[in-house]
Amino acid sequence: MHKPLSQYLDLANPQNLQAYQSTGGYEGFTNALKMQPQEVQQQVSDAKLKGRGGAGFMTGMKWSFVPMGEDAPKNKYLVCNADEMEPGTFKDRWLMEGAPHLLIEGMMIAAYAIGADVAYIFLRGEYRLCATRLQQAIDEAQAAGLLGDNINGSQYSLKLHLHTSAGRYICGEETALINALEGKRANPRAKPPFPQVVGLFGRPTIVNNCETLCNLPGILKNGADWYTQISDGADTGSKIFGISGRVKNAGLWELPMGTSARHILELAGGMQDGLTLRGWLPGGASTDFLLAEHLDTPMEYDAIAKVGSRMGTGVIIALDDQHCPVGMILNLLQFFAQESCGWCTPCRDGLPWAVEILTRIEAGQGSQDDLDVLQQLCGFMWIGKTFCALAPGAVEPLRSGMKYFADDFQQHIDHKGCPHRH
Ligand code: NAD
Repeated sequence: MHKPLSQYLDLANPQNLQAYQSTGGYEGFTNALKMQPQEVQQQVSDAKLKGRGGAGFMTGMKWSFVPMGEDAPKNKYLVCNADEMEPGTFKDRWLMEGAPHLLIEGMMIAAYAIGADVAYIFLRGEYRLCATRLQQAIDEAQAAGLLGDNINGSQYSLKLHLHTSAGRYICGEETALINALEGKRANPRAKPPFPQVVGLFGRPTIVNNCETLCNLPGILKNGADWYTQISDGADTGSKIFGISGRVKNAGLWELPMGTSARHILELAGGMQDGLTLRGWLPGGASTDFLLAEHLDTPMEYDAIAKVGSRMGTGVIIALDDQHCPVGMILNLLQFFAQESCGWCTPCRDGLPWAVEILTRIEAGQGSQDDLDVLQQLCGFMWIGKTFCALAPGAVEPLRSGMKYFADDFQQHIDHKGCPHRH
C-alpha cells in the first residue's frame, strides 16, 4: 500500500531539507506552483480529501468558500490546527516530530491554493520537540528560498510562523483558535460567518488540521486518481489510525481509509492477557462508545456514523472488561469540565454538574434520580444549545456509556459502590 504520510517519518532523525527533497519532497508544491490556484483546489476536491481533525469536512469544499480573484481581500490566512489536545489522540505529534517538512510543504500547497500570503502553525504548547523540529525545518526552507518572497522565482510569496498555544483544549476549536492568535481570550465565535470568509483579523482564513495538510504533497505529486485508489472504501486515501488503552502495544499505523477497528486492534497485538474488549471510542474521547460487535465496521466517517458514533480523530480508546465504565466516563468528563471556556451556560454549568453526579455514583452514593438528571443533562448540552462542539462532544461518551453500560450504572446505585473495586 502507498503510505503518503509515514513514508517520510523518521522519529529519531527527521529528514533535513536535502534528505526530504531527495525522497521526492517539495515536488508536490513545485507541481502546484505550475497550476492556477483554482486548479490546485480542484485536484484536492477530486481526491475527495476529508479533514482529519475529527469532523471529516471536505477539504476542497472548505477552500472553495474563500473569496478568490481580483475582488478578493488582499490578505488571506492559512492556519494549521496542530493544537492536538483530544484525549487519546497523538497522531499529529507523530507527523510533526517525524516529518516536519511534510507539514510545511502541505501548508505551502494549501496557502497557494487559497491565495494566502501568511500562514501560522498553531501548535499545542506541550509539543516542545515538535516546536524545535518545525522551527528548524521552517528556517531551512526559508534559507533555501522555499518560503519568503517570490518562491522559486515565481510571483508567489509566503511567510510561515510557528505559534505555540498557551495550553487550553478550547484553543483547538477553530474560532477560539483565531481569537487566541489575535491575542484575545480563546472563546469560540458564532458561525456563520465561517472563518473561510471572516477569520483571522477579519480576513478570509482556512484552518486545516495538521494531518489533513500532510496529505496534500502526495496528492499534488501523484494526482487525485492515485490518491483515491489507496483505499477501496467510501473515503479516500490513507489515515493515521491508532489505539490506546490496555492493549498489548498501543500505537499508530498509517492504513487505508476503511480499515476495520478489528484490524487496528490486531496490529496492537490484541487486548492485554486476561482482558476482553468491552467497548471502544473510535476517535478520541468526544465520540460515542461502540461495542465489540461493531469491530468490523470500516473506519470511515459515514460507516461509523451509521452504527451510532463518529470516527473523530480515528485514534481509538479501548475499554476492557476489568475497567469501570463509570470511572472512565467520570475521568473524561472531568477533563471536559476543566477545559470548558465558560462562554456558554450549558457547557460551563452542565459539565461540572455531570462530574458531581458521576463522582457520587462512582463513590456508591448515587440515587436513581441522579441517572435521570444525567440523561437530562445530555439533552441540555447537545448540538444547537451550546456555542461550540465541546459540550456535545463531551456528552457523547456519557450518553452512549449510559446506554451500553446501563447495568454498571445501576449496580453502583443498587450495591452502593463500584463493582469493579474489590
Ligand atoms: P464542524 O463540523 O463544525 O466544522 C468542521 C469544519 O468544517 C470547520 O472548519 C468548519 O468551518 C467547516 N464547516 C462546517 N460546516 C460548514 C458550513 N456550513 N460552511 C462552511 N464551512 C463549514 O466541526 P468543528 O467544531 O470544527 O470540530 C469538531 C470536531 O473536532 C469533532 O469532530 C472532534 O472529533 C474534533 N476534535 C479534535 C481535536 C483534536 O485534538 N484533533 C480536539 C477536539 C475536537
